[in-house]
Order: sequence, then structure tokens, then C-alpha cells
Amino acid sequence: MERYNPQEIEKKWQKKWEEEQVYKTEADPARPKYYALEMFPYPSGNLHMGHVRNYSIGDVMARYKTMEGYNVLHPMGFDSFGMPAENAAIKHGVKPADWTYSNIENMERQQKEMGLSYDWEREVKTCDPSYYKWTQWLFELFYKRGLAYKKKASVNWCDTCGTVLANEQVIDGKCWRCDSPVEKKDLSQWFLKITDYADVLLKDLDKLKGWPERVKTMQENWIGRSEGLEFSLDCPALGTKIAAYTTRPDTVYGITFLALAAEHPLVDAICEKSGKAEEIRAFVKRVRNTSEMERTSSESEKEGINTGIVCVNPFNGKEVQIWITNYVLADYGTGAVIGVPSEDSRDWMFATKYGIPKIITLQPRDHELKLEEMTEAYTDKDGVLVNSAEFTGLDIKAAMQGIMDKAEKEGFGKRRVNFRLRDWLISRQRYWGAPIPVINCPHCGEVLVPEEDLPVLLPDDVSFEQGSLSPLASSERFVHCKCPKCGADATRETDTMDTFICSSWYYLRYTDPKNDREPFAKDKVNYWAPVDQYIGGIEHAILHLLYSRFFTKVLHDAGLVDFDEPFTNLLTQGMVLKDGSKMSKSKGNVVSPEEIIAKYGADTARLFILFAAPVDRDLEWSDQGVEGAYRFLGRVWRILLHFEQAVKTGGDAYDVSALTKEEKDLRRVLHTTIKKVTEDIRDRFMFNTAVSSVMELVNAIYTFQDKELNAGLARETARDLLLMLAPFAPHITEELWSRLFAAGSVHQQKWPSYDEEALKVDEVEIVLQINGKVRGRIMLPAGADRAAMEQAAKENARVQELTAGKTIVKVICVPKKLVNIVVKG
Ligand SMILES: [Zn+2]
Ligand SMILES: [Zn+2]
Repeated sequence: MERYNPQEIEKKWQKKWEEEQVYKTEADPARPKYYALEMFPYPSGNLHMGHVRNYSIGDVMARYKTMEGYNVLHPMGFDSFGMPAENAAIKHGVKPADWTYSNIENMERQQKEMGLSYDWEREVKTCDPSYYKWTQWLFELFYKRGLAYKKKASVNWCDTCGTVLANEQVIDGKCWRCDSPVEKKDLSQWFLKITDYADVLLKDLDKLKGWPERVKTMQENWIGRSEGLEFSLDCPALGTKIAAYTTRPDTVYGITFLALAAEHPLVDAICEKSGKAEEIRAFVKRVRNTSEMERTSSESEKEGINTGIVCVNPFNGKEVQIWITNYVLADYGTGAVIGVPSEDSRDWMFATKYGIPKIITLQPRDHELKLEEMTEAYTDKDGVLVNSAEFTGLDIKAAMQGIMDKAEKEGFGKRRVNFRLRDWLISRQRYWGAPIPVINCPHCGEVLVPEEDLPVLLPDDVSFEQGSLSPLASSERFVHCKCPKCGADATRETDTMDTFICSSWYYLRYTDPKNDREPFAKDKVNYWAPVDQYIGGIEHAILHLLYSRFFTKVLHDAGLVDFDEPFTNLLTQGMVLKDGSKMSKSKGNVVSPEEIIAKYGADTARLFILFAAPVDRDLEWSDQGVEGAYRFLGRVWRILLHFEQAVKTGGDAYDVSALTKEEKDLRRVLHTTIKKVTEDIRDRFMFNTAVSSVMELVNAIYTFQDKELNAGLARETARDLLLMLAPFAPHITEELWSRLFAAGSVHQQKWPSYDEEALKVDEVEIVLQINGKVRGRIMLPAGADRAAMEQAAKENARVQELTAGKTIVKVICVPKKLVNIVVKG
């Protein structure tokens, strides 16, 4: 018999699929659609096992849904702007475009070797002018809608990358890309006004029933909505009022100090009046050089400096010390936070450290707090107010409302909703990105580049010297232009856009990738999108997934799309580990997909990675596991070719009642497997258990290796086995399909359905017990009732022998399981 030779059959089918455009997709409003999408990769040049896992999961869904009768969109592309291309240019003198396109070519080849069902005609590359033209167009749309603006801001600066970072890109005070510490710098930068959508981005998380709770919680925390009171404290020494924000208005009678951010606008005025300007300035400078993350971390040491100036609590007229601290941030609330030591742990520590007074304003219901006995703040949100004027005696909830009412009535405060989410800083002082399409005119100010002049192309006469200016600024030809409004000499914006903008809308472009008149046609985008199943890593929970939701909502409001959430269902796959840790070059534990495919074939690589762990869990690489997957495919190959003759002569309709008992058992295993695999894929993404059921089915077929097998059943079993295995191992199933059935591609067949009748067990084994002890086993029809079970038990020779001469007290029957005869004497 011919050996299973994946190297030969995989190449053959990949070529054929491409020639015959098996995976080409067209919108067809008459058919239900399914949009399966894996997060597109950055073109680093080589696929890693994480990619293999990501794409294999998506490919199973795309192929399965196709077989279920859906019109499936399954595209692939490249998130191809970004720093590594530029670093390669700096280090090796290659052009970023050349570096990028050659990496893309290499990765496409590797993706094609995996046998993925992508419609390659829809491929999108974000660095291509035909794509970034529309990224720029969308920037202009945001600008026209008042959602893009430039302002001078204290920004996160990574010196190693030579660029600013969005808040979302600073992780534990470090750059998300290179891990260097991030500093603050004052620069004029472009922002997208994502805060305008904070409320709806939060509220609509409820719509995302098909998203992991964990991701939704991360977004909720990132958006960080709080309801509270903003009120002002009079500061006679400075002749002004200071606004403060609190989410605990019920505690205002316990305020003993006011903590200001080092960046607070009153710091200069305070220095002047305090008589210790130098000391304060030195402290402020030190604080401003520490990262935001350090300042807000619960572990970091809270520090402050007493300014010696006081303000007045408007609720009770008491004096409140003004401190400048390291833990308040300028852009959260008002940059001034009330200090209530008795009810806040941080304030307690701070007040204890610096000897600031404490006042108890909340007493628990079951015991009485005394300041001199307390060693920490009382932070339970339950109790009765004390020392709080007319609010004394109320519970927290009533006091909150009453206190906010009072502030509003007396005109020194207002209810306010506050968000942790900041506007999205999108300008980068880097070359390899989409240029921001704005011209600065000495007369007209900021002017958008007219639509007909898009795209603003990247210049290639640039120098890659690092600094706070983008390399684009070094191209005279790029910088100097005429104002589109008045014709005067003007200059171009030289910053490029954060690449997360490019990836915030690529899934929409796939629906109409070659459109050169608009980013996508309305009918096409509304037919295909939103994405039905999105698959990617958990690391994108906030950045990419939040930005994409924001983009979709803006496009919805602008009337470009009919839906307002981009991804209906989200699957976050686990990592691929080796020896317990993530594969990485530095750990030397990388297994290259190319090598595995060269040795065993893509079907083995795919099958192993889908079988080795549930999709959302981490997967431990195992060489034996890969060997096992390869051996299994070899078994499938041999047994189906062994029955080739029977499969070819068997009819599609055959007499099931003529099957032997063993054959009926095989047919039951087949139909049970179809039911299980269908439900595992469709309802649970349990690809690992689906594969293991298919393996059991193959074991069941092997029991006929040396026996006669009914040709009709052989045909039915071979057909359904190939159909079920096709989404997992597309090449071997296609090859066997062409040899055994020869009717079109296995990937264009209908998914098998199961026969309820076939699931029923004909005969079951019944355990015979006497006084609870097992004394024998008999086979009975599965439908046998209690009377029939009892009769059969009593007729059993061994039972008769053991009960002879005794009195039967009781017979207990458990249908399909056992008969227990209770005897006496
Ligand atoms: Zn960096
Ligand atoms: Zn002008």
C-alpha cells in the first residue's frame, strides 16, 4: 500500500486550491454570512507557534461554517507599519518598505504552507498607500467630527524608541515595545477624543455576550467610570478657589488636608506665598520625573510637602492644610484630592506619617471607633455618620445624596461623572507610519489635506537620526508645500500616526479591499461585518480591542456602517509554552513551525496544536504529541485505503437493518461521534475533545481490519470521518476524498448530520446482584421493562442456583443497569 506522504500531497493540494480559487468569497445577500477573523500579524518575517495556533483555530471555524452552508469570509493581511522596519533601516541601511515587503512575502509563503482557507485576493497591508490613503481619510473624518485635535501635553516619552507612547502603551511604567522606563516630556501632540465615547464604550460592554468576562472587566477597569462630587475650597491666601473631586462625598466632614498633584496649576502661586519655594520646587521636580505607574501604584511610598497654606472646607468652615504629593495625578479629576484619613487607607498612612489631624465621621453599627485605639482607617462602606452636622445619623447612601444636594444648592459644588480613560495620543515621531494629513499655514492655521490629494505619501529622502522630531522633518521636499486654502507657503505635519490606528479598521477593509473611491462600500461592509468570530491573544484586551470598538462607534455615528460593535464573539487563545515557559529566542526554547511542517506536514502541526489543549488554555509543546498526531493521520490513511474497494462499491443508501451487531455498534460510534464533534465545534470550541472522539471512531473502524465490513457502512463511515476531519487536517482529507469519492473538494461538502435512531443502543449489559453482591451479567434489549428484566434475571442459571431454597423478599430493577434480588433464609 502507498505510504502517507504529507510533503507530496500538501504541496499538490495547496497549488490546486489556489488555481481553482476554492476559497474565493463574494458577498451574496441571499445567503447567510459568517465572518471568521484571526488578528493579523506584524510582518516580523517568520511565523511562530502562537501564529500557528491562532490560524489553526480560525481555519477550523471557517471551514466548519462553510460546510454548514454559510457564506464565509476568512481573510488575512499584515499590520505592516511600525518600528522594527525603521530600526532595520537604521541598523542595516535597508529601506523600511523593502524590509517589510520581503518579510510579508516570507510569512505569506509560510501561511500558505499551513493550508489555511484564506481568500488571498482580499489581503490587506496597512503600509500600502492604497490602504493608508483611507487611514488618512478616516483621520480627516475624525477631525471634521471634532474628534482629532492637537495640544501641548505632558506625554510619555520612550528614549530608546525615540517616540511618545499612548497611556495604553505604558505598562508598569515601561515601554510596551522595548521595556525601557518611560519619562514625561512636554510636547505638542495629536489626540483622538476617545473620552467622548467613554460612557458608551462602557455601557455597550453589556452587548458583548460572546466576549470573555475577563476582557470585559479589563476594559471596564481601564475606562474607570466613577460618579462623585466636584466642589471648590476657598483659599484666601492665594485669593482663589481650588476645585476638588471625590467619589465619597459622604466623607467631606472628615477632610483634614488637600493633596495636590505636582503638576497642579497653582504650584507656582503656592511657591511664591509659601516662603519655601526652593524646597517645594525641588520636590515637584523629583515627582514629575517618576512614572505615572510608580506614582499610582499601591506599593509605592506616598510622599508630600506641606505648603503651609490652608484652604477652607465649604461644608463646615474648617481649615484644611494644602499639601503637594507624589500620588495625585494632574489629569485625574481636578488634580486636587481631599484627604480623609479616618476612612481611606492611603490618607491614613499619609496623615500618620506627617502628623496631620484625623476626624472620625463614620461609625460602624456594631462597635464604636476611638481614634486613639485605631491603627488603620475604617474602610467598610457601611455605618452611620457622626461629626457631620445635619447629616449625622444618616447611612452612607442617604448622606451622599444629601451632601451633594447641599453643595449644589449652596452653589459651591456639582455632581460629576469622571473617567480614568484619557484621550488617545496618536502622533509618533517616527518614519514608518501613515503621515498625519495636515498642513500648517501661517495664515490659516491647521488645514486638512484635501481628499483628492490623499494619500500623503511617505518621502524616501529622509534621515533616520533619532530625536524629538520625526524623520519626515528631514525631507525638505516633504515638509514644504502650499496651503490648500490660501496658496501661501506652508509646512506639513511631520508626525506619523500610531499603528494602532491602522489596525482599528482593517477588519472593515477586508469586506471591500480594492475599493479606490471609499474605504469600503456600505452594502459590502454591512453584509459581512461585524466579525462573527474574532480570535487573538489576551494581550490585546485593552489596546486594539478598545480602539477598534471606538472606531466602529465613530463610523456608525458618521453613517458609514450600520452596526456599532465590531466583534460579536471573541476568543482569546492561550499561549504555546515549551518546558513551562513562553517560547522565546532568549530562552532558546523556540520550535519553528517551518521545521515541524517540513518534517511532518502541516496537517500534523495543526492537528497536534488543536488536540493538545483547550483553545483558551496555555498549551505545552510536546514532541511525543506531535509524533502521536502524525501516527494518527497515518492510521487514518491506511485504514481508509484498506477499505477502498468497499467504499467505492457501497451505495449511499443501504439496508441498515441487515447489519451485524458489530456493524451496528460501529454505526452507533460513527453517529455518536458526529453529534459530539458538531456540538464541540459549534457550541464550545472544544476542538481537543472533538479530535479525541474522531480518534475513538478510527479505533472502532480498526476492529474490522481483518473482517468483512458492509460496503454501504464502509462508505458512510469513510465519508463522514473525512468530513469531520477536514477542518482540522485539510490536505490528507482532500487527498483521501479524491481517491475514494472523487466528487469535488471535501471542503465544499455539507457537514455530516447524525441519525438519532443510530445513537440508540440495541442491547445493554445488565448486572445481576443477589443481596447487593454481583453474581453475573446478561445482555438484554435496551428497551426491556422492569418485568422483562426481572423475568430474565430469575431465568438465569446462576441466579437459580444461588436462590434455590430461599425466599425472594424483593426485586429491585434499575433499567439498562442492574437487577438486585433480595433473598432471606
Ligand atoms: Zn520603547
Ligand atoms: Zn493658508
